[in-house]
Amino acid sequence: MTPERWYQAYFFDIDGTLCLGDTVLPGVIETLQLLREKKRVIRFLSNESSSDREGHVRRLKKLGIDCDSEEVLTTIEATSAWISERYPDAKVYPMGAPDLTKNLEKNRIQVTESPAEIDIVIASCDQHFSYPKLAKAFDAFYTYKRAILIATNPDRHGPNGPNTATPDTGFVIAALERSAGIECQMVMGKPNPTMLIAELAKLGISPSDALMVGDTFETDIQVAHNAGTDSAVTLTGDSTLEDVVAAGPQIRPTWVVEDLSQLVPAAADQVPLPS
Ligand SMILES: [Mg+2]
Repeated sequence: MTPERWYQAYFFDIDGTLCLGDTVLPGVIETLQLLREKKRVIRFLSNESSSDREGHVRRLKKLGIDCDSEEVLTTIEATSAWISERYPDAKVYPMGAPDLTKNLEKNRIQVTESPAEIDIVIASCDQHFSYPKLAKAFDAFYTYKRAILIATNPDRHGPNGPNTATPDTGFVIAALERSAGIECQMVMGKPNPTMLIAELAKLGISPSDALMVGDTFETDIQVAHNAGTDSAVTLTGDSTLEDVVAAGPQIRPTWVVEDLSQLVPAAADQVPLPS
């Protein structure tokens, strides 16, 4: 069933929802434009952890999707904020993209490569993962027994085109957990509702007036359930109509759309806008 109401705020997953690789999906540009005309709040909430906010903005603009940096919420920034709040003096070892290290340093979080000093290992999408890097983190857990493991996001892989995908943070988490016999203590990114709840609080918008839109049940739809917002699954990426039918009550989406052209009420001008 397609949405029969407007929301004050719309949170969008990016890959599989707005685009596949470098291709923008049907209805995306027009629907975002209409939401802006109707003065709806738009936020982009991706688990993609290889870019910071500026990187995401550059990518969206290249796709022809206009956005401000304040509309983009990233797992890199949320992870830095989590460390700053809970472990401001910790020394961390990031296994991820250069933007992750850059953002940690920007937030004055101490970065180290010395296993004897590492308090927190951050697993992320590390395209330069190597045995020597694994061995450093392993020593911090196994030999020095001092570090905890956290991760920017839980994804096993991310879509980059029809029936194609690339490995994501999951392989880094698995390598560390399996080799050192430890468990990841905190995973930022969807379905962790921290970012979504914090942004709604900042905006002063109730979860019941927000819609999370995405293509993956275990992240996008689950985060909506965890944050108490409504959800819309789009069938342009990870999920099919069969998945919708098979979804249990804990993960059932509020709405189902074939693509984003169906996201606004069919009789858009007759349905009242919440203020
Ligand atoms: Mg997606």
